[in-house]
Amino acid sequence: MFDALAERLEDAWKKLRGQDKISQANIQDALKEVRRALLAADVNLQVVKAFVKEVETKATGAEVISGVRPDQQFIKIVHDELVDVMGETNAPLAEADNPPTIILMAGLQGTGKTTATAKLALFLQKQKRSCLMVATDVYRPAAIDQLITLGKQIKVPVFEMGSDANPVEIARQGVAQATEQGIDTVIVDTAGRLQIDADMMGELAQIKKAVQPHDTLLVVDAMTGQEAANLTRTFHEEIGITGAILTKMDGDSRGGAALSVRSISGKPIKFVGVGEKVEALQPFYPDRIASRILGMGDVLTLVEKAQEEIDMADAAQMQAKILEARFDFNDFLKQMRLLKNMGSLGGVLKLIPGMNKLSGADLEKGEVELKRTEAMINSMTKQERENPDLLAKSPPRRRRVANGSGRLERDVSELVTKFTRMRGMMKQMGQGGMPGMGGGMPG
Ligand code: GDP
Repeated sequence: MFDALAERLEDAWKKLRGQDKISQANIQDALKEVRRALLAADVNLQVVKAFVKEVETKATGAEVISGVRPDQQFIKIVHDELVDVMGETNAPLAEADNPPTIILMAGLQGTGKTTATAKLALFLQKQKRSCLMVATDVYRPAAIDQLITLGKQIKVPVFEMGSDANPVEIARQGVAQATEQGIDTVIVDTAGRLQIDADMMGELAQIKKAVQPHDTLLVVDAMTGQEAANLTRTFHEEIGITGAILTKMDGDSRGGAALSVRSISGKPIKFVGVGEKVEALQPFYPDRIASRILGMGDVLTLVEKAQEEIDMADAAQMQAKILEARFDFNDFLKQMRLLKNMGSLGGVLKLIPGMNKLSGADLEKGEVELKRTEAMINSMTKQERENPDLLAKSPPRRRRVANGSGRLERDVSELVTKFTRMRGMMKQMGQGGMPGMGGGMPG
């Protein structure tokens, strides 16, 4: 969903290509592009202004670094600023010294609050943290039923007192029960309204006071775009939040809310909801999103996804190989096969540097390219796979691989060049540096 933003930001870098250094004058066009890109991604205007101003200050004050082009340097500055705005790393859930940990869910109706309550419970359960979900939305009996149904589905108990009880009392008794039963985490689902109103805020504040939550999470619908900023501000001012869950990131939201929430409240997005199913919850990694926004792909997420498929030792080894540029064609082939096993090729491909701009129509082409790439690698000798330089240096070897795979020598050349470049880029990323421009995945 950050694809459009990534694409527009590329126009910003282009403005600086060919310049020999960043200056007050030549940076203005690039800044304008950044501003335009952020606004188009539905980032709140106020947040955009502050962002652009900060980038300008940092860019004009930046020293020229030898060997680094101005556009690369500018990307780095924008990247750092994105990380600044969204947070460095994933912010974990609170964990009380004396259980139960109490999590209070807040947000408007329809944002996905009840769903997120169950998603969180399932997430915690997978980490062997026992949960109790508390249903306090007495205004919509259907909400209580919904939580009970979800509870059954994920085998997490639900505490409720029907729709005649007082929400504050329900919350209090729910926590008391969890304490009594030695449950690790209580998640209190609360009532939402279609719009912010004083009654809702008053009740939330009372519940908060009564149960003293360790985490108060605002559930924000990513589709609300610009509005997310105002909503966050109001909730934070009135009840004080400690974090947020951004839902419906699987929809065609342009992602702007992700930048607005922390910028406005100073509180991190802890999770994102990426579907209607209870499993569709992911910890939010701002640093990785920042990389993805800048079109650098997301090697770390890729490795992590692969980790779910292969055993840990193997994955750790793969990651080390990537970071030390020891990643060879054998590893590449292995990864490609994993991708295929992982199902959604499209979803995974988007994580790969240079492939974030794929549209649906391109995907089929991508599949074909992957097959061709695989065929070429299959035609390489063991030594060639381990050492792509052999191919880079020897036209006869390339011809042999081309013949073996039904491709042209040119295709093999291109594969080797791109692979080598990608490996270099991965290495730079691993060292925290910036990748060179124009990198990409073979294929
Ligand atoms: P609540 O009123 O805030 O408790 O909202 P619900 O949990 O009832 O969710 C409202 C609707 O949004 C339901 O149809 C959910 O299935 C849907 N929903 C919730 N989270 C997500 C998400 O991450 N992605 C998508 N696509 N739909 C979601």
